[in-house]
Amino acid sequence: MSRPSPDHPSTTPSKRPRSIPGSGLAKGLAVTLRTMTRRSVTAQYPDVQPDLAPRTRGVIGLFEENCTVCMLCARECPDWCIYIDSHKETVPPAAPGGRERSRNVLDRFAIDFALCMYCGICIEVCPFDALFWSPEFEYAETDIRELTHERDKLREWMWTVPEPPALDPAAEEPKEIAAARKAADKLAAQQAAEAEAEAEAEAEAEAEAPAGTQDTPDRDTKEEGT
Ligand code: SF4
Ligand code: SF4
Repeated sequence: MSRPSPDHPSTTPSKRPRSIPGSGLAKGLAVTLRTMTRRSVTAQYPDVQPDLAPRTRGVIGLFEENCTVCMLCARECPDWCIYIDSHKETVPPAAPGGRERSRNVLDRFAIDFALCMYCGICIEVCPFDALFWSPEFEYAETDIRELTHERDKLREWMWTVPEPPALDPAAEEPKEIAAARKAADKLAAQQAAEAEAEAEAEAEAEAEAPAGTQDTPDRDTKEEGT
């Protein structure tokens, strides 16, 4: 057993000054008096709703249409509280002579919020923007099993997800929007050209039609007279 060194606190006499009797009580009262005059920060929930930031991590919403069942979120979740089931389906070829493709179809998507630690990793790693934070937090349950939210409930949370903040007016247009705009402009130009061609064809047909097949006011008047 090693001996304590001569510098060890247990071997050196206490150098702390002796406290005056009653000073602790005075300090405590001073703290009480100081806090009594300050504004209370205690939120009287549920009578008063807390003023939360719009991007508060309350609950996770699932936008099912974007989910490709890649399983990345379930694999990266540190709590293993995302449950996904799926099956494969064969999709017929898009064009005649093409190859059949197979795709994953979602059967179950659930998150156990009794285990979730709200780290947000699943939302960060989802490559297809299928998971979003909602600021809703009032989903406490008396039965812990009810805290496993299935896909229908996760979809309902999507309605409470706030809109993304507006882009900086000077920001470059996102490439997805630019591509969609380009495609829409192309389609509109194509439709306008088709309509113009149709109108021209109709006008030509009318001009080329034999004179006998056209109703002339003189002939009608003549027929009415006879
Ligand atoms: S927030 Fe974190 S703990 Fe919760 S489901 Fe997502 S990855 Fe898992
Ligand atoms: S990471 Fe996104 S796309 Fe992949 S399974 Fe999870 S929610 Fe679906």
